[in-house]
Amino acid sequence: MNLSHMARSISESPTLKLNEAARRLREKGEPVIHLGGGEPKSRTPIDAIVRCTAVLNTGEVRYAPADGIPALKQAVIRYTEDHYGRKPAPENVLISSGTKHAIMVALHAVLDPHEEVIIPAPYWASYPEMVRIAGGVPVKVVAEDGGFIPSVDEIAEAVGSHTKAVLVNSPNNPTGVVYPPEVVAGIVRLCEERGLFLIVDDIYNRLLFDGRTATNVYDYCGSDIDASRMIVVNGVSKTYAMTGFRVGWAIGAADIIRAMGNIQSQETSGAATPSQWAAVGALSGVQSSVETLRLTLQNNRNVMIERLRAIPGVQVTEPGGAFYCFPDFKAYRTDSQQLAAFLLEKVRVVTIPGREFGMDGHLRLSFCASTKEIIEGLERIRWALDPSTPNELYVGDHRLVRDWL
Ligand code: PMP
Repeated sequence: MNLSHMARSISESPTLKLNEAARRLREKGEPVIHLGGGEPKSRTPIDAIVRCTAVLNTGEVRYAPADGIPALKQAVIRYTEDHYGRKPAPENVLISSGTKHAIMVALHAVLDPHEEVIIPAPYWASYPEMVRIAGGVPVKVVAEDGGFIPSVDEIAEAVGSHTKAVLVNSPNNPTGVVYPPEVVAGIVRLCEERGLFLIVDDIYNRLLFDGRTATNVYDYCGSDIDASRMIVVNGVSKTYAMTGFRVGWAIGAADIIRAMGNIQSQETSGAATPSQWAAVGALSGVQSSVETLRLTLQNNRNVMIERLRAIPGVQVTEPGGAFYCFPDFKAYRTDSQQLAAFLLEKVRVVTIPGREFGMDGHLRLSFCASTKEIIEGLERIRWALDPSTPNELYVGDHRLVRDWL
């Protein structure tokens, strides 16, 4: 069919594709363990449900202002004051249909055709595709030492005459690493010196482990929000386990936010009204669910790390935040797509190939799953790879016999 060049060049989200594959296998009664997911399993906070249902109960669910309802903007302003020590004006805040859409409209607002966006690797798999959809060119920067955080010098080397923006995410999907303050400071300085937009994806900034505190980009920003080219995005999906509500936001200079709001008003007319009220409830209500989630994830991380370290040859970097771990499986397979397909086929464990995140030889494992699933999933992975384990494994009622090692 005569579809656009852009449409033909964009691939399906690998995570959503694997979710679908896992769902189909489960429907057939297969004992699938899903370590690929990107959403916490906790329930929606009660304050979010109360605010949302109050709107639904009126029976009048109407259009809201395209850039967000004032009550949610106020809640986001309070959140920004509490966590960043800056008080944006309502004109500095845009409410979008998820953090993903906030990033998308930011890219549409800043990019002219063929302009480049620098993306440090490993990166969230959607970023390069989103840059392409906005007509730009993703420029991936991989650390030469094979680590998970490219240096500021490596990022600076990638800046050229077509560079328009840098897009960073810490705590990071897929590695869980937290960029150290000096790297964040260096990136902010670089963008200020070179006149680049800096899109900061802070969606995991509340999910930090071992007493770490989030690095606040505004600590290094030499100017007022209105004079800055920095756009900070966040949302309720991860912190409040509200992925299905589709609410995110962006903070930036009023000029940028106005442009983003205009684009969004023509694209979607803004986020769904009941979802925005749910987000007001989450942000303004009792916050104990955030700490409960953080502690659950920290515990799950410990369980996962311990099990991974028991697999000979697997290299693990301990995640400092988010809910992903990005172990190196090169001792077994260098092709991460083959390895993920092998693990799904042989032991019914869903993992996401590192290649999707800009680093082959690794798998992204999510510890959003239950502790029981993590333990069993890692036991199956070890059994599939490590010849020192017994030749048989029971998966539910099935007796598996290993005939490939
Ligand atoms: N940024 C990152 C780094 C993510 O991992 C995700 C979700 N996987 C998003 C943004 C999108 O979040 P939302 O549900 O708010 O669109």
